[in-house]
Amino acid sequence: MKKLSVLDLEHAGRRDFASSWKLTYMTFQPAKEALREALCTLGNGYFGTRGAAPESDASRIHYPGTYIAGVYNKLPTHIAGRTVINEDFVNGPNWLPLTFRAGDGRWVVPSECRLLSYYQALNMRNAALNRRVRLQDEHGLTFTVEMRRIVSMEHRHLAAMRYVITPEDHDGVITVRSGLDGNVQNAGVARYRPLNGRHLKADAQGMVDPRTVYLFVKTTSSQIQIALAARTRFFRGEEEIEPASHIVHKGGKGVYLDFKVEAQRNQEIVVEKVVALYTSRDTHVPHPRQAAVDAVKKNYRFFSLYAGHKRSWHRLWKRFDIRIEGDETYRRILRLHVFHLLQTASPHNVHIDASVPARGLHGEAYRGHIFWDNLFVMPFYNWHAPEISRALLMYRYRRLAQARRNAKEAGYAGAMFPWQSSATGDEQTQIVHLNPMSDKWGPDHSHLQRHVSFVVAYNVWRNWKDTGDAEFLAGYGAEMMLSIARFGASLCVFDERDGRYHTEGLMGPDEFHERLPNASRAGFRDNAYTNFLIVATLLNAVEMLEALPEPQRREVRHSAGVDEDQLKRWDDITKKMHIPVNKDGIISQFEGYFGLKELNWDAYRKKYGNIQRLDRILKAEGKSPNAYKVAKQADVLMIFYLFSLRKIASVFRRLGVRFTDETLKKNYDYYIKRTSHGSTLSKVVHCYVAHLLGREGEAWQWFLEVLKSDIYDTQGGTTPEGIHAGVMAGSVYIALKCFAGLELFDERIVLSPSLPRDWREVRFRLLYKGRWITFLLSRRQVFIYIQGPRGKPYPLPFEIYGKPHRIVYGKTHKISLRRGRLGAVAGAAPQAVQERVLIVDGDIMRSTVLRTRLEDLGYLTECVHSAPEALAVLKSGWVDLIVMSVVLRGAVSGYQLLKELKASRSYGRIPVLMQSQKAGMKPLFERLGVAAFLVKPYPVRDVLREAKVILEKDRHKGETGREKR
Ligand code: BGC
Repeated sequence: MKKLSVLDLEHAGRRDFASSWKLTYMTFQPAKEALREALCTLGNGYFGTRGAAPESDASRIHYPGTYIAGVYNKLPTHIAGRTVINEDFVNGPNWLPLTFRAGDGRWVVPSECRLLSYYQALNMRNAALNRRVRLQDEHGLTFTVEMRRIVSMEHRHLAAMRYVITPEDHDGVITVRSGLDGNVQNAGVARYRPLNGRHLKADAQGMVDPRTVYLFVKTTSSQIQIALAARTRFFRGEEEIEPASHIVHKGGKGVYLDFKVEAQRNQEIVVEKVVALYTSRDTHVPHPRQAAVDAVKKNYRFFSLYAGHKRSWHRLWKRFDIRIEGDETYRRILRLHVFHLLQTASPHNVHIDASVPARGLHGEAYRGHIFWDNLFVMPFYNWHAPEISRALLMYRYRRLAQARRNAKEAGYAGAMFPWQSSATGDEQTQIVHLNPMSDKWGPDHSHLQRHVSFVVAYNVWRNWKDTGDAEFLAGYGAEMMLSIARFGASLCVFDERDGRYHTEGLMGPDEFHERLPNASRAGFRDNAYTNFLIVATLLNAVEMLEALPEPQRREVRHSAGVDEDQLKRWDDITKKMHIPVNKDGIISQFEGYFGLKELNWDAYRKKYGNIQRLDRILKAEGKSPNAYKVAKQADVLMIFYLFSLRKIASVFRRLGVRFTDETLKKNYDYYIKRTSHGSTLSKVVHCYVAHLLGREGEAWQWFLEVLKSDIYDTQGGTTPEGIHAGVMAGSVYIALKCFAGLELFDERIVLSPSLPRDWREVRFRLLYKGRWITFLLSRRQVFIYIQGPRGKPYPLPFEIYGKPHRIVYGKTHKISLRRGRLGAVAGAAPQAVQERVLIVDGDIMRSTVLRTRLEDLGYLTECVHSAPEALAVLKSGWVDLIVMSVVLRGAVSGYQLLKELKASRSYGRIPVLMQSQKAGMKPLFERLGVAAFLVKPYPVRDVLREAKVILEKDRHKGETGREKR
């Protein structure tokens, strides 16, 4: 089985091999900067800012984009003989600008200087971007410049940067320039550059006081006011200095302060910039301008903002982290994916009217539009933060009235959501599209992908199943589902000749096919996936209706306009919808698919190498992809991704379509040969289906493709324009559904882990119908812990490798899987698995034994051998107990470390279990407040006993209402 090695990752700087929380870059590489900017984006759901150098404007190398969730603007462009109007995800004012110069030299931009050393690391645990460069300016003067910045997860309107300049070889005046730049435009995607991208007009700008500037701009057509204020402060050591400043205006929408600072050789000048960003879309903020200025006037220090920001992130990680033990690489990339998803939609989304743009808050590809990709994203939120999924579904609900208008205008009933949605929910798909290979514009019919509406209904349904949120369903979800079901039914036309319902003029997810060759109209008859989705939507809608209590059922039917006759017709459709299948059991992607020509795939691979975008290649050759059996991505196979085999079989049975055990295999084998995977989503689906087929090796290869998609930019240039939220969420879904083997049904939870060879174990938590379940799965055993009234039985049985298990709340169940046989040892380990113990011990052997034993009991552990390492872990994560030895590696003893810990307020409250062979030290340690002291050379059993006691006590405090650390 092929393996993704850490060494493959240029991102893994040597020093950081150990940390799966970091993406590290040890050299500056201009050609890779755009990709790194996307991967190092910081965001909090409200806004995101690319990981660009603060010293640089947009240039050949850098692109400092800032995107505010839900802020779109329309602009017309006259192109290819017509006027097209595009609604863009507005690149907002750049809040980063911060640079300096010595004397009258040029402003320092590291990429234009001589770089003596370069180090940049994205710390995912703390969501901070750190950079340290040593450089020489144009006069050969040497500086060390350190930067750390955050986009606050605690205060969604704030961002902050700490910038430390140290001149190494000279004294003298340096000028520091810090400001806000609204002279930006949407120019992040090369192929959109011919289109008008100037979305901001000036409103007001100026200086509040000698440290603070403000910039207010407005979007040109949506008239959204964007207000920013920035306060810049200076420190020498802890002492604040107040250098003289003067205001500089640039380009009509740029405002900066220039500060003159007396610099001395080897003395740090610390600059702290705190920025506030508000818009007129913020509900509860009547005056965004005032709010921005007031926010920075609070005079925050960087580290106090950073502390709150870290706390917020640590809380998120506690919910979302998937910890794979084994190869670091997988853990790191999965964390990268979780990290970027949480930056794209976070708990702040509850206050934001926005959804997850296909490419995150990380770039301008697809104009920040909302597609069907949320299908891949929703389980991630359903399982960890249903308040976020609800917020994302509300984005659709608020556009339900527009969806009804869309349907009506197109001649249908019910609600039709657009293929590309942004501000209002009207159709935002382009009507012309540029082929970068031929440089020609051509028509774009992708809006005919009506399946997106059924995906909205599916997301509502899945949300209800996963979260059990009946309130959301009754208040909002049910109305959406019924309205979409009505739309689905109105797409179906009954044909007397074959006694079947058919759809016309639709496209499936495979965007290479827009029409049959020689057809005059775009779209197809009977796209199988869409037809299947319509049937499933109608069935789900009826199931949902039946589950609603009577008064609500009546109300919902009334608001969606569903009468008895319609219900009868729906029922008929679910029995007579046409799904084209050939005599070999291959589902035809659409009617007429089998008549298309076969492509010589080998010849194309040989000629072009990367043929993911075969459509562009064929068009550039003057051919049409419509003529060939070539798919951009999974289309028919989507059926198998979305529904359980049981459900699929029952739908097909109802339709009278033959579905056997072989159907899945045959269809996978048929379509995989004809798919170029021009969309990263395709890899997620193929991975999932290969796993369903039990083809573990193949599934693993697909999973590696999924993991590599963004970090390696495997499509060759798309990630710099924004991350792929769908593939990122897909990787988490696969880890949980396929490798952890988790299936959540209404009546039971099924677990059949098949961990990949390189994974020793995997731990994660998820929320199912309101209860947190913690899992720790290894080859030999499974731990399950469900939060709830201790000792009471959990209502659903667990089925582990086909064997039922009853679980009780508040107790860790350990199920042994030894020698392939199951032996349930429920209750053998009474600890909750989510507690984390930090072992600090100079003796590697002893700490390894301790670690294994603690882990066997279901604790999370971290093991370090020196004081600095211990401090680093404490800084970067939550710890519930420290087990420490007096003897550590290096100069610092356990005693000194303990003193340091106690002196620091943030760590001072973590209980410490101290081991020492010298009984005489006991009083000393007691004075330092250790929770327990053990005098034994090898006290593993005692440590375990004491650790349990301490953690039990601490947990009890947590449960009785005291806030846990
Ligand atoms: C894919 C679509 C997807 C869109 C946005 C396209 O390349 O074909 O399925 O929705 O990207 O991610």
